[in-house]
Amino acid sequence: MQTTLGSSVTFDGVGLHSGAPVRMVLRPAPAGHGIVFRRTDIADADPRVAALWDRVTPSKLCTLIENDDGVSISTIEHVMAALTGVGVHNALIEIDGPEVPILDGSSAPFVEAIRKVGLRNLGGNLRAIRVLKPVEVREGEAVARLEPASALEIDFAIDFADAAIGKQAKSLNMANGAFVRELMDSRTFCRQADVDYMRANGLALGGTYENAVVVDGDKVLSPGGLRHSDEAVRHKMLDALGDLSLAGAPILGRYTGVRAGHAMTNRLLRALFADPQAWCWEDCSQQQAYGLPGAGVCRPALAAC
Ligand SMILES: [Zn+2]
Repeated sequence: MQTTLGSSVTFDGVGLHSGAPVRMVLRPAPAGHGIVFRRTDIADADPRVAALWDRVTPSKLCTLIENDDGVSISTIEHVMAALTGVGVHNALIEIDGPEVPILDGSSAPFVEAIRKVGLRNLGGNLRAIRVLKPVEVREGEAVARLEPASALEIDFAIDFADAAIGKQAKSLNMANGAFVRELMDSRTFCRQADVDYMRANGLALGGTYENAVVVDGDKVLSPGGLRHSDEAVRHKMLDALGDLSLAGAPILGRYTGVRAGHAMTNRLLRALFADPQAWCWEDCSQQQAYGLPGAGVCRPALAAC
């Protein structure tokens, strides 16, 4: 069964890259609507952009979607991960600027607010995307792959020169709230050298040592240190879930990322959907629905959790 939010939730913050103040409201939407953003500051063009893989414009630092009129929304991955991680299938996301608020750099503030209003069950059947054969994209040493599995699994490995990050790997079956227990509070991370470079190029203007884990060599510069010793790889898995959610339906398959980023995960989805032999639609049985990432995370809206 498809779901939406029990009621609207509002977030005020700043864009990570623009530094501009932004208000974002997640609103309930009917079955079959999917996740759609609407720019409330746009009057002279189509303000709606569907959160779908074929709307993504390649971008190294974040996931950016754009409609045919050139209206875009960037840094959507953390709120998309939150929606998938708690099992929201339909929502209208109103936003008064071009970038999602970064909040604390993780998905936790989105998840906590959604859990407060709970979910509402809608009528329509839920369809999933079953991966039928391995699909892979490579770029140098980076790999992103999808292969058949009975539920969504995410494996990720990273290798950074900075000793504060170094080599990290983690593997999770995303069923039954694993996202909320293991991934949602892990923050964006970057190196001090990247911050200096981005700032010089007018990016990361909303970045702080609080909403991003900043490292320099073997030092973590953010006060309070890390939330998990492997926070970096956990955040990469969070990003992967957000980017995979742009498939438009839950994925039944195993995702493997090695040094992969937003652009590669999007190329992987494009490769999957370009090959009709590689995937099929499948009506979710009740048993499969119980194994989806958000199953059991939120109670029904009337018994607000
Ligand atoms: Zn991220």
